[in-house]
Amino acid sequence: MLLIKNVKIIDGTGAEAYASDVLVSGNRISAIGNFPNRKADQVIEGLGGYLMPGFIDVNTDADHQLTLFTNPHQESFLKQGVTSIIGGHCGSSLAPLMYGSLESIRKWTDPNQINVDWHDFREFVPTMKKRPLGVNFGTLVGHSTIRRAIVGEDLRDLTDPEIEVFSQIIKESLEEGALGFSTGLGYVHSRQTPYYELKKLVSVLRPYNAVYSTHLRDEKEDLFAAVNETLNLFQETGVRTVISHFRPLIKYEKNFEAAFNLIDKTVGKMDFFYNLYPFDTSIVPIYTFLPLWAQKGSLHDMLSSLETAAIRARVMKDLPTFKKGELIIAGAPGNDHMIGKQLGKRDLIKAMIDSGLKAQIFHKNIDHQKVLELIFAHKALVGSNSGGLGERSTKTFPKFFELAAQREDYSLEKAVYKVTSLPAEKFNIPERGRVAEGYFADLTLMLNNQVKYVIVNGQVVVNKGECNQTTAGTIITRG
Ligand SMILES: [Zn+2]
Repeated sequence: MLLIKNVKIIDGTGAEAYASDVLVSGNRISAIGNFPNRKADQVIEGLGGYLMPGFIDVNTDADHQLTLFTNPHQESFLKQGVTSIIGGHCGSSLAPLMYGSLESIRKWTDPNQINVDWHDFREFVPTMKKRPLGVNFGTLVGHSTIRRAIVGEDLRDLTDPEIEVFSQIIKESLEEGALGFSTGLGYVHSRQTPYYELKKLVSVLRPYNAVYSTHLRDEKEDLFAAVNETLNLFQETGVRTVISHFRPLIKYEKNFEAAFNLIDKTVGKMDFFYNLYPFDTSIVPIYTFLPLWAQKGSLHDMLSSLETAAIRARVMKDLPTFKKGELIIAGAPGNDHMIGKQLGKRDLIKAMIDSGLKAQIFHKNIDHQKVLELIFAHKALVGSNSGGLGERSTKTFPKFFELAAQREDYSLEKAVYKVTSLPAEKFNIPERGRVAEGYFADLTLMLNNQVKYVIVNGQVVVNKGECNQTTAGTIITRG
């Protein structure tokens, strides 16, 4: 039994804070009220701080980067007060793997770092339950992950029987607890996916009330068309939709404005959202800087063609110029010495070759002022889009709360709602995201704007601001 005394509860629904104590038994909140004489095994003196539901980061790369396995404590999330993270975005997920291959995450990290001992979602859930996890982890299933298992590296349309098989795999995954389905239409292996395939596959989600998350087909010149396509799909399938890392990119501000207005005009109060983080930097696989004509086949194919002088010269000619500090190497599996290096055009091509096209790049390409405003839009959810790299992996939620405190139109209760019960509802996460009796005890206690205590499934994991290396997380399955 854990007693948390003398706190102001912000329950996550948007309701006003109220003074109370909270009792936790096992992994659940057992009672909320005043318990001045209650004895407990463990007592946290709240000193009048705010007790809120643990935050839910709706878009993370801890799975793509495999930090979920290589750094299971996930301190960077916990220290921000995040108790649950959602992965499987942008078309790539850890499951289902029909042939046990994690090839679809190769653009983020070296998949050989871990042993894969699961295939379908049914095997994945118990595997994850046995693993140490610092935070709760729920996942969508990725379009590219499943598609690659069906067609390999081929860039071709699926046949009707293949779409049937694909639909069946999605259904089974949802029944075993996947939160939804994602696409990464901007990436080379998915860019040619026809609309009718998407419509068939996304329609599978409807009876499950599951969520569809999409990395748009284009975030630059053709952003408007990409958003328009997503809205059509949303209207034709009636499936709740979330655009991943919706961000106003520098040089494309007008396109963004038009796309934003289209969403605003079309969706009203309907179940359509986007997620973003309050920073000016994207993290992108290095190969995505190649001109589109050079993004063909596997990473290996692209690398071999880059080794030809004539191709390199053409790439060099087609690359835009980059400002000083605009590109920095964020990660380079097996080539840690490259991390932190600033890149111009010429260094970029060299880094592509030296890293085997596997580096991750910090790209300072987001309109900062705009994004700080956009995160408070009615349809915005907060997602760090991070797996441990850069400031957003440690500061997304503190920054969000700092910004919220500066706004007259935003109460703390409303800010908490945006990162707790709202995402829990949109991603079908049962019995989390609220401070309520019977709910899982995922809690964050803030005192003087600092995260002091974090509790995951009833266990204290951050104590007086310090992580104590407890791995109390579990896999979250669809409610
Ligand atoms: Zn993405």
